[in-house]
Amino acid sequence: MPDSAANGGSPTGRWAKVIDHTRCIGCHACTTACKSENEVPLGVTRTYVKYADVGTFPAARRAFQVTRCNQCDDAPCTTACPTRAMFRRPDGIVD
Ligand code: SF4
Ligand code: SF4
Repeated sequence: MPDSAANGGSPTGRWAKVIDHTRCIGCHACTTACKSENEVPLGVTRTYVKYADVGTFPAARRAFQVTRCNQCDDAPCTTACPTRAMFRRPDGIVD
């Protein structure tokens, strides 16, 4: 059972997120969904997918790295943000 002190005092458990990067095909549907759901303005992206070409021909391939918030335990964004737009919710999620 999670430690409630490390969970912002929430007694309901602690959220975790797992992404299997090996299954990502780089379609950017998540990037688009995030922008749409959160009304992220043009020119700003909160989640994006990095492409990396690895290996050499004929064994070359493209790898994808889905890049989004990692929900750091000690989240520097929450103290760096001057307007407190970034903050930790009582249930532990960095929002
Ligand atoms: S780019 Fe996003 S939506 Fe597309 S496969 Fe990768 S993780 Fe899924
Ligand atoms: S918790 Fe803050 S510092 Fe950590 S990955 Fe998310 S946005 Fe970045």
